[in-house]
Amino acid sequence: MTKTRRMVTAELGNMDAVCEIIDARIPLSSRNPDIDELTAGKRRIVVLNRVDQADPDMTKKWAAYFRSLGYAVIEVDAKSGAGVKQFAPAVRALLKDKLDAYEAKGQVGRVLRVMVLGIPNVGKSTFINKVSGRKTAKAEDRPGVTRGKQWVPVDRTLELLDTPGILWPKFEDPEVGIRLAFTGAIKDDVVDIEELAMRLMDYLGRNYPRAIFERYKVTAEDGDDGWALLQKAARRRGFLISGGEVDTERMSRILLDEFRGGKLGRFTLETVPEEPS
Ligand code: GDP
Repeated sequence: MTKTRRMVTAELGNMDAVCEIIDARIPLSSRNPDIDELTAGKRRIVVLNRVDQADPDMTKKWAAYFRSLGYAVIEVDAKSGAGVKQFAPAVRALLKDKLDAYEAKGQVGRVLRVMVLGIPNVGKSTFINKVSGRKTAKAEDRPGVTRGKQWVPVDRTLELLDTPGILWPKFEDPEVGIRLAFTGAIKDDVVDIEELAMRLMDYLGRNYPRAIFERYKVTAEDGDDGWALLQKAARRRGFLISGGEVDTERMSRILLDEFRGGKLGRFTLETVPEEPS
């Protein structure tokens, strides 16, 4: 982490802007807590990635929220490539005054440099590959290969700096860990599967009751918490163990798999912070 921080700081002076990739389903939990401090003073572009998996209305709200902080924002599904074409125009709009100044000085065609940052699994490599047409596999996936920094051209006058090293999310906050686990960004073996499923069911029951009804034919009644809903769903599916008890562990795995696989629909698990009054 310290190494990554040092590298970001060392390179920042050469950058025109910093691009932060965020998971649109968990726009707060998928950020590195130090990024604002690390990139202070730089123009910022936020890529709300995975919009294909997020609630479209909530994505609009999140985009507006990040714009209100002064960032350029684009909405992207890096896997299919939807939205990536907005990247270059958005960067140029963000840096318009700089480009105008270059032009006034006759420096047409000066290359813009953008550092790309994101927590692991957010889709950074997929995004960079799509936006640049790069085909190479992720080097860090090959054992024993240390990846250096890489310049990746997007077009003739726009280059990305793909930073090696890892920027972690805010793990010390247990709520953040839970949300990252919901989305599958962290492995299931570090969390209790039933606890996780119960919490997910609780959130879905309160915020997306229709989706739960459509998939599992359960309705939240007064007082039903996530655990009650999970049990109801297990019963509906006939997941029973000896003694007539329901197999909530099996149901938990199914709920998480189906949620991550998009079978329940598109969800956003974090709401835009309220304006301070
Ligand atoms: P990185 O660790 O940030 O570089 O993450 P990757 O680019 O390796 O992406 C992690 C996984 O998420 C891969 O399986 C990608 O195919 C998938 N992925 C990345 N972006 C998207 C997206 O916008 N939508 C969906 N559905 N999947 C994505």
